[in-house]
Amino acid sequence: MRIERPRGTRDFLPDEMEKRRAAERVMREIAESFGYREVATPTFEHLELFTLKSGQDVVEEIYAFRDKSGRDLALRPELTAPVMRMFANECSVMPRPLRFYYLSNCFRYERPQKGRYREFWQFGVELIGSGRPESDAEVIFLAYRILKALNVDFTLHVGHVGLLRDILSDIEEKDRAMRLIDKKDWESLKDLLEKEGNLEVFQIVMNVSEAKTVEEVERIYSDFDYSYLESVFEILRSLNVEFVPDFGIARGLDYYTGVVFEMYAEGLGAQKQVCGGGSYRLARLFGGEDVPSTGFAIGFDRVVEVCDVDAERKPTVIVVGFGDSTKSFKVAEMLRNAGVNAIVDVMGRNVRKQLSYADSINADFAVFAGEELERGVVRVKNMKTKEQQDISIEELQDYFSGSR
Ligand code: ATP
Ligand code: MG
Repeated sequence: MRIERPRGTRDFLPDEMEKRRAAERVMREIAESFGYREVATPTFEHLELFTLKSGQDVVEEIYAFRDKSGRDLALRPELTAPVMRMFANECSVMPRPLRFYYLSNCFRYERPQKGRYREFWQFGVELIGSGRPESDAEVIFLAYRILKALNVDFTLHVGHVGLLRDILSDIEEKDRAMRLIDKKDWESLKDLLEKEGNLEVFQIVMNVSEAKTVEEVERIYSDFDYSYLESVFEILRSLNVEFVPDFGIARGLDYYTGVVFEMYAEGLGAQKQVCGGGSYRLARLFGGEDVPSTGFAIGFDRVVEVCDVDAERKPTVIVVGFGDSTKSFKVAEMLRNAGVNAIVDVMGRNVRKQLSYADSINADFAVFAGEELERGVVRVKNMKTKEQQDISIEELQDYFSGSR
């Protein structure tokens, strides 16, 4: 019987994993260079963690199940709530601010399509403890630096959800309106606001969403204090960050309170949002102290698809044996100590077949585990140039490091 993968999941073969690990390395290194440290939380949590944050409706979108003792659990659909739960549980006395990052798989019961899976990965950070513009600027800049380093062609939009919330303050179905704005579903938004007899608000939302500068948006809606957002803009400009002020960013989830941002990459079609983030207050919801935080989540799979990153790989060397396996194993260890990946024959093949296998897997070198070994040298064949050369064991490391 042939068994297929579950819908919306993927297998990753070695070439793909190599690219994913290379992208991951860049993300980790940059986050760590900003002082962020890695955390991990459980793959499943109490369902309540997610319904508390996003409302009962999210149950439709997540993998929720009951365990054998009747507990309601869920596979995590994202990491911000779990990290803030962890913070409330275990980190309340740690010195602030806290800088955490994570790379983890998430699960959502969505309709699978290009760039949208039921199991996917997020790389994200949370900066916990500050409600100042500097923290928003840092988190935005960090996401920007990561996508730049990965050579992604993207645009960054920065706004403030407080503005839309303010404009919608008299609207009954605020959360629904925010979701419609997030999806840019103007038709339904118009219907909703018309029904509430508030077409005027619809017009303001439209105009505000189209504004390109603070001056422009201030003329449309002056009852909002734009100074916080301007401070964030100022820091970003001083760092030469290219961004688009966007006063129509609503974000789907309703826990954001202040500055919000999104990044969209070219080459992904409809699922082009590769990063979303902003400032929020969640800790109190989970029984912690009411601390302000800022974070983002990068859609790792989407970024991998469009990034351009060098997969750093050691040379691959095939040890060609002549029937004495103990010799092959010994030579392979010497090679590994010299800094390369060494593969021994486990098929009992003759020399010709071992070399043809080396070709077929694109090995960089073949090293013969032959008689020369007694003289302290090995014969090395460069599989690309076909040149052969005897190299002394002491020089192997230099030889291969020069070959990269
Ligand atoms: P979308 O609007 O595309 O559903 P979202 O606003 O729900 O995304 P977030 O919860 O902010 O997304 O997650 C952060 C990032 O994770 C998104 O910007 C996206 O790149 C990625 N992402 C979200 N859902 C999926 C999925 N099902 N498959 C792959 N990547 C995803
Ligand atoms: Mg979504």
